[in-house]
Amino acid sequence: MPAERTDSDSRKLLRRLRDVLATKAKGQDRLDQITHLIADSMETEVCSIYLFRDAETLELCATEGLKKTAVHKTRMKLGEGLVGRVGRTGLPVNTANAPAEKGFRFMPETGEEIYSSFLGVPIQRVGERLGVLVVQSKTARQFSEDEVDALEVVAMVLAEMTELGAFAGVGTGMAMLHTQPVLFRGSTGQEGAAEGRVWLHEARVVVTNPVADDPLYELERIRAAVGELRVSVDDLLAAESLDKEQKQVLEAYRMFAHSRGWLRRMEEDIASGLSAEAAVAKEQATARARLENVPDAYLRERLHDLDDLSNRLLRILTGQGSDTGAAMPENPILVARNIGPAELLEYGRKLKGVVLEEGSVGSHAAIVARALAIPMVIHAERVTTEALNGDPILVDGDQGIAHLRPEETVARSFRDKIAMQAKAQERFASLRDLPATTRDGVRIGLQMNAGLMADLPSLVGSGAEGVGLFRTELQFLVRSQMPRREELVALYSRVMEASKGLPVAFRTLDIGSDKVLPYMKPQDEPNPAMGWRAIRVGLDKPGVLRMQLQALIRAAAGRPLQVMFPFVAEFAEFQAARSLLLREIHREKSLGHGVPDKLEIGAMLEMPSLAYAPDAFFQMADFISIGGNDLKQFFFAADRENERVRKRYDVLNTSFLTFLQFIIARCAASNTRLSFCGEDAGRPLEALAFAAIGLRNLSMRPASIGPVKEVLRSVDIGAAKKVIDTARANGAETVRGVLADWLAQHMP
Ligand code: PEP
Ligand code: MG
Repeated sequence: MPAERTDSDSRKLLRRLRDVLATKAKGQDRLDQITHLIADSMETEVCSIYLFRDAETLELCATEGLKKTAVHKTRMKLGEGLVGRVGRTGLPVNTANAPAEKGFRFMPETGEEIYSSFLGVPIQRVGERLGVLVVQSKTARQFSEDEVDALEVVAMVLAEMTELGAFAGVGTGMAMLHTQPVLFRGSTGQEGAAEGRVWLHEARVVVTNPVADDPLYELERIRAAVGELRVSVDDLLAAESLDKEQKQVLEAYRMFAHSRGWLRRMEEDIASGLSAEAAVAKEQATARARLENVPDAYLRERLHDLDDLSNRLLRILTGQGSDTGAAMPENPILVARNIGPAELLEYGRKLKGVVLEEGSVGSHAAIVARALAIPMVIHAERVTTEALNGDPILVDGDQGIAHLRPEETVARSFRDKIAMQAKAQERFASLRDLPATTRDGVRIGLQMNAGLMADLPSLVGSGAEGVGLFRTELQFLVRSQMPRREELVALYSRVMEASKGLPVAFRTLDIGSDKVLPYMKPQDEPNPAMGWRAIRVGLDKPGVLRMQLQALIRAAAGRPLQVMFPFVAEFAEFQAARSLLLREIHREKSLGHGVPDKLEIGAMLEMPSLAYAPDAFFQMADFISIGGNDLKQFFFAADRENERVRKRYDVLNTSFLTFLQFIIARCAASNTRLSFCGEDAGRPLEALAFAAIGLRNLSMRPASIGPVKEVLRSVDIGAAKKVIDTARANGAETVRGVLADWLAQHMP
């Protein structure tokens, strides 16, 4: 039995590891020396380092004690054998009798059959598994807690050394971290292509020295930093404006910040030789691995709190704020786990592209990206772990992919694509002032969707004939407080002025569902998309809706005004909302204020129920706008935010087209103006189908107007209608294929 392991043994080992790092040795030689040093210090016969070759495979990359011929030959899948188990769970395995362990897998080529005890720990940084460090010995014994801790500390130093590029050239995923090209397959947040350099929204904190020179000094640093962190969390909690829920979240923060166990573990790591920063990073990585394996959702949520606190602590220690002082590169591509709409707006058009790990197409960040016409890829898993500030990156919003550090050949063909898009833009620009009239003389009105001041310059640039949908809630969402009526009056006036007499359909607040105002109490609803949202909130609690209507009326005094109500399920709701608006007009008049010189009140048709409303509804509505995003989700019962089902159903299904034709017929019967303003209106093939079945107004994001107009001007809409009718008569479930083929033959 080896003598008890002390902190001084650990410190000695770490210093020797650091000396290895300081030599000019090659990556492989360094790994070999390191396994030798660890086996020697831990008094075990074997020390091996397994590194990830790819996300699923671990490879033996260096060993002291096992057969050298097995190096770079022995491989195991994630979860396979004890090493694979450590790799999968991120948790240590410590056993006196490895062959008797469940899942043990014998690797004959390594000669490991004579070793009984096994201790494996993960080599990991936060959110990034790099490999597994193993020691084995012949004597059947359980490793002590001190030994496990010591090996974890060593593994941490290895992980940080990797980050610093110590093992370059070994030919594994780990050694090549941050140097190789990586392709991220996510989904489209906003179409378009861009080339630029990575700008991390939250810069990674780089630990430049994982090993402590002076443990006492490091202890002082960690205690001071934790003290500072506690004060800052206490300050946050003392803020008066917090509601109950925010308080609860911050209480959980405080609990972590004041946790003695957390500080004690970091102090122990420092005593074993880690620097203060490396100790924070080690505990962060360990906690994350533990919590990831916990099935309890609440506890997993807390993982974010702990991550956040650890990041704050690292920033205090390194002085690397979220603004690291690094200059934003030219053509910045923002890379982040997620981002809020307000933050994205702040960056504004400076950004050439956005790549997110999370996010969703319907999210407001995506809507802002759309407004700013910034290509955006979402669901790019692990991109924040892989990317470093300044790395070259290509964003392909159309395909929903991003190439980090791309090969030159990839970059070249990508540039061709950008050039082609620029050419197409020129073509579209030349159509800007021409009407969207089809070859057989049918005129389709093309309008744009907007919601931010940033959208308005596009009104002139895109050739839109007005704003078919102004999503007023965006203005509410990007603020931290409820806007005042006067602010809204000023804002709506600016919108009307910028539109230079072109019509703007203001949609009243559509909040609820995923659009939660930061300053309103969130509702805990089992299914918010079908819950208390939009006009339902407006009618139940009319305070905010009335204020908004007053602001619209005042802004439009002496000018025409179009107001439409979202998410109307039945006639009675429309009547109630309409009466509310008429009452406000009456009130403004009696107060002596000016009122709009022409008023049009419309409804969004977003639920199938409204299509079957009484005739009186169609007669009363001045106009109707089909909210295809919601209508599609309710028609097919497929959540628009759920990537799994979102793309499963197609608006070019004959079922959906038949339903649209029913709505078109009802509006025609009452002579009610009808338009379609969901995202699908902006897709050329869909726009063609909609026009063919009789829609005469389409509202879309500004960038789509050119491509849609080009298609509409090139076709005979009557002929397109025949293609659809024939397909339907032949029993086709979708017209996508036939219509796309037909269009390909008819485009110049
Ligand atoms: C729609 O549902 O199609 C729509 C235009 O509204 P939003 O996307 O804002 O829900
Ligand atoms: Mg909608």
